[in-house]
Amino acid sequence: MIKIKKINHIAVVVNDIESALKFWRDDLGLSLDHIEDVPSQASRVAFFSVGEGEVELVEPTEPDSGLAKYLEKRGEGMHHLCIEVVDIEGMLIKLRAKDVKLINETPLELPGRRMAFIHPKSTNGVLVELYEIIE
Ligand code: ZN
Repeated sequence: MIKIKKINHIAVVVNDIESALKFWRDDLGLSLDHIEDVPSQASRVAFFSVGEGEVELVEPTEPDSGLAKYLEKRGEGMHHLCIEVVDIEGMLIKLRAKDVKLINETPLELPGRRMAFIHPKSTNGVLVELYEIIE
């Protein structure tokens, strides 16, 4: 049984994290948890705590990446929704068996978490990220 825990975060793609801090941290008043480089995703991310969940700002760091092209084409805005599960590998196996199109066939290992993206073609147009938190 694959357990779904919660919405871990909602991500917004931005041109520049430093300028975006003005609204999210200074004006709105969210508390900045940390900023992190994610070379495997050609991005830099900032996480803000919002109750049990988080808001993530994502900034592309390489001009030719998928994220940079997305930003160029669509501009800043909502980028993905992240659902936290207990067993990410089990979830990927289950989704594959149901012919759901995955971007990451196996989980990527990042500090404190394992993650994988599901293709928007299978999710009514929303990029969905899966997280398994590693304690
Ligand atoms: Zn994310």
